[in-house]
Amino acid sequence: MGLVVQKFGGSSVGDIDKIKNVAYRVIEESNQGHQVVVVVSAMGDLTDELIALARQTGPNQSEREMDMLLTTGEQQSAALLAMTLNNMGCAAVSLTGWQGGVATEQVHSKARITDIKPDRIEKELTQNKIVIIAGFQGLSPNGEITTLGRGGSDTTAVALSAVLKADICDIYTDVEGVYTADPRLVPDAKKLEFVSYDEMLELASLGAGVLQPRAVEFAMQHNVRIQVRSSFKMEPGTLVVEGGKMESNRIVTGVAHDLNVAKLALFDVPDQPGIASTIFQALAEASINVDMIVQADMRDGRNDIAFTVCKDDLHLALPVVERVAKDIGASGTSCGQDLAKISIVGAGMTSNPGVAATMFAILADENINIHMISTSEIKVSCVIDAPLINAAINAIHKRFNL
Ligand code: ADP
Ligand code: ASP
Ligand code: MG
Repeated sequence: MGLVVQKFGGSSVGDIDKIKNVAYRVIEESNQGHQVVVVVSAMGDLTDELIALARQTGPNQSEREMDMLLTTGEQQSAALLAMTLNNMGCAAVSLTGWQGGVATEQVHSKARITDIKPDRIEKELTQNKIVIIAGFQGLSPNGEITTLGRGGSDTTAVALSAVLKADICDIYTDVEGVYTADPRLVPDAKKLEFVSYDEMLELASLGAGVLQPRAVEFAMQHNVRIQVRSSFKMEPGTLVVEGGKMESNRIVTGVAHDLNVAKLALFDVPDQPGIASTIFQALAEASINVDMIVQADMRDGRNDIAFTVCKDDLHLALPVVERVAKDIGASGTSCGQDLAKISIVGAGMTSNPGVAATMFAILADENINIHMISTSEIKVSCVIDAPLINAAINAIHKRFNL
């Protein structure tokens, strides 16, 4: 007998019929003789609806109260799934994150899991119950309810899998696995049988929303086997595995895109030691994550520096940049919002020169201008105009024969 963790995302628990479908999948797994721990997300778009509701209360929402509100979403689906299973004659109990022993740091809205004490879960399992845990939530050392960032139920599932030494962590969602590109945008996208942790981490971090990047990072560190699969079809999905286990490294495994991109620039920054540190230290102090950074070549002792941040952070970044620009004597600043990042990811890129050049050529053939570029061993990213993202993804997908 093994132990399986099943995680069902929002679209899989969107209404009672879908919750009944989930219950069948849980019972099926249990009938195979496995102990089953289930992690659920909030129903459908409930998290977004709760955020919209909170915004109606006035201009400010404390992060503490926001976490208090958002965690109710996952508790609803957990309780409804437990009731459904009980009504089908299957013993099941729902637990909040904290009842399940999920401890996090004292940070609201994007806390990291620090520890899981699974005593209660294990006790319920030994009583032959299906244990359903509300995902995306934990308890801080101060006794505050915290959330793990958007898509955080994936991380709850992977962390529980590590602690409970699960045989597999099945992530059930509304697509059949990890595809070569977002199947909603690229009709020809193909399902991958395997993807390496490294590639999956890049794809997830670069916008492939199918897994939370932190969940992949956690799985990689703790050797958790993840399978991404469909809640609605029976076929096997995509296995996330160690790179070495794959037969060969594909040059390009997939294309990811991110529309949550804004660009900021400072002009005529004095070319002196310590200037970059001043700019990016100020942003770090305001808890703003900076992604790509480009510094132009010096002329007349001055440089231009441009970088990207999440669009959601732009309202925080702008005043910081304007203040720093004044302090360091830059001649001005600019900001652009209608942008998107398109990236190709593949473990075989390291040993195949010319991949980046091919990507630039494909974009040039489509008459798409590149605003910024960044590369790592296994990815190339370009910032382009947002309205061109569809054309860019489809052209890249086709020309790399994905
Ligand atoms: P859930 O509610 O199950 O957590 P998400 O919406 O978070 O589901 O993730 C699934 C979605 O991820 C898919 O519907 C798909 O549009 C999107 N997606 C983006 N890139 C990819 C990709 N490369 N492979 C599969 N899905 C992707
Ligand atoms: N409900 C949360 C969200 O929408 C967490 C999750 O679904 O994983 O981000
Ligand atoms: Mg998700």
